[in-house]
Formats: sequence, structure tokens, C-alpha cells
Amino acid sequence: MAELNLEALKREMTAWRRDLHAHPEFGFEEKRTAAFVAARLREFGLDDVAEGVGGTGVVGTLKRGSGNRAIALRADMDALRISEQSAAPYRSGNPGVMHACGHDGHTAMLLGAAKLLAGEGGFDGTVRFIFQPAEEWGKGALAMLDDGLLQRFPFDEIFGLHNMPGLPVGHFETRAGPIMSAEDNFEIVLRGLGGHAARPHSGNETLVAACALVTHLQTIVSRRLSPADIAVVSVTELITDGTRNALPGLARILGDARSFRPEVSAAIERQMRIIAEGTAAAYNVAAEVNYSREFMPLRNDAELAEAAFAAARNVFEPGNIAVAREPMTASEDFARFVDHVPGCFVFLGNGEASPPLHNSSYDFNDDGLVFGASFHVAIARQRLAI
Ligand SMILES: [Zn+2]
Ligand SMILES: [Zn+2]
Repeated sequence: MAELNLEALKREMTAWRRDLHAHPEFGFEEKRTAAFVAARLREFGLDDVAEGVGGTGVVGTLKRGSGNRAIALRADMDALRISEQSAAPYRSGNPGVMHACGHDGHTAMLLGAAKLLAGEGGFDGTVRFIFQPAEEWGKGALAMLDDGLLQRFPFDEIFGLHNMPGLPVGHFETRAGPIMSAEDNFEIVLRGLGGHAARPHSGNETLVAACALVTHLQTIVSRRLSPADIAVVSVTELITDGTRNALPGLARILGDARSFRPEVSAAIERQMRIIAEGTAAAYNVAAEVNYSREFMPLRNDAELAEAAFAAARNVFEPGNIAVAREPMTASEDFARFVDHVPGCFVFLGNGEASPPLHNSSYDFNDDGLVFGASFHVAIARQRLAI
């Protein structure tokens, strides 16, 4: 790629990124974003641009040569329900919604790659550019798959990336095997009999039972799972219908569990039900457990992880490419695609001073745009080599 092209493309991607940042949209509401993406892809002269795939998803297709292999490159488009704290001229113009996970940057980088590949080619086969909705919910990839993504736009393998606060800009990390965790959500409802704060013995209040239950839940990871398995069980909310002088008859405990293997997720649910029922019985209240699986664990294909490192060597300084030491206990909807075709997910630095993802002061670092777009281009040209 010529230096001049990249400088011009960087300016263009920065303008797109800031435009998207100023107009954030929540999952499945990405109408303006999807229209923006589709308009750019048509300008670049892609062979096909399909809108409304799985709600607000967009799929662009670019063919060159006669190769019959196809790869997919994926970006996510949705924002979060967070009120942005920013003085930037391109700050969110949609109150209460902001791009706090950098999906504006991911979208701009994949558009940049589409423009470069459409203009310069350098590959033989088919590239699918997948812009998915509703990543944060863990619902968008499934919506696209349910809408016939793999039948209508078939591909052999898929690549995706995410920016990473704390990692310097221009740095690259990934690993073969497990890289991001499953996310399960749970709600435990305790029902008893509330009453006067002065007379607890005349009812079956639920707050002391709920506190005991929160403590007992800490033993799932520490006493029921193998120390070799990485897992997290986090209670994040405890809500009751009590008031200052009335004991609650209802308590709700909500939280989130992370793991890397379906067997571990199943063991967490099983033990949670045992603890909830046993604790409830000890306190004369009733327990109901609602357990749902929101995100699947994400495993990188070993061969494709090698390919990603090889592509990265064309883009990043050798000293800035690293094997991620351990999987992350955060989750990614990209895993739904990798459930069907081999894939690899990689991380790009967003800067050491970057506020964390999902923080109201977070902002995607535009200095990373060229790295991400160039990585997409490099992996496409390598996997669909002429
Ligand atoms: Zn996020
Ligand atoms: Zn994200």
C-alpha cells in the first residue's frame, strides 16, 4: 500500500469515525449507521451490498479473480446506553447513548479496508464485509445467522478485532484457543412474608436469607470448580421490597457468570440451584432461579491464529506483536460466527492512557485506524492469495 493512500485514507476514516461517534445508536436501532455503511460500500463499488440482514445488519461482497474461497471480515456497529462525558466536538448527539466500546472505530476501520480492497484488489476470491448490529446484547450475530447469513453470503472463515485500552496504539495481540469467555446471566428470586421491622419472628423476611445466599454463591468457584478452570460468578444487584421499618417479603439477586467451557457453565448453574434451594429452605423462604446463556465462549482456530500473526507482521513492528498470555473473562458476540466457521479474533491497542471500555470518558483512538484497516487488508490478501 502506498504511503500517500494511507494518509488520505486515515483522514477519511477519522471523519467517518467521528461522524458515527456523534450519532450513536443502540443495538438493533442502528438505522442511520447501517445506511451510512451501505452508502459508503456502494460508493466503493462493491459487487453487492445487502441491508437489513438480521434487523439492521449490512453485508458487502467484493469478488476478484476466479478463486472460489471466501473469507469474512466483521465489525460491530452498536453503541451503549451510557451518557458520554466529553468536550470533543464530535461527542454524542444522542442523549444517553454513546460509543463507549469503540464500535465506531471498528466500523470505520472495516470501511477503510473495504475501500482499499475495492480500489487495489490484491486478492483472488470473495471478501464478505459483515457489519453486525447489537453486539453488546449478544443478539446481533444470532439475528444475522437466523436470517440466513451463511446460506446467502457463504464464507469459509472469519476474522474480527477489538480495540484494547491499556495496550499501546500500534500493538497487536491474540492467541490460539480460548480468548474470550461465555457470559451467563442469573436472577434468583426469594419469596417469603414481609412484615414489621419490630417483629421479624412473625413473618419470613427475605433479606437475611438473600445476604446468606450471596455469601454462599462465592463457594461455587472456590469449592465446586476445578482450580484449573477459569470462571467468575459475580452478584451485581440485590433488590428488595423492604423499606426502613418494614422487612421485605421479596428479594431479587442478579448477576453474571463467566466461563470457557459448556461443562463449567452447566456446573455453575447446577450448583447455583442447589445453593439457592438449600439456603431458601434454611430460612423458610422459597427460591426461584432463572439462568440464561447470553454469550458463548470464543475460541480462536489455531491455524487462523497463526495466519493472523503472519498478517500482523506486515502491519505492526515486530516488537509490538504479542501472544495474549491469558484468555479474557469478557465476552464477544463474534463467538456465534465461530460456532459455525473457523475464526480468529484479535486485539489492537487503544493507548495506555485510554479510559476503560464502557466508561463514560472512553473514546476510540483515531491513531489506531490505519493499523486496524491494514490488518483487515493483510489478512484478506494472505488468506485469498493470488
Ligand atoms: Zn462493549
Ligand atoms: Zn465492544
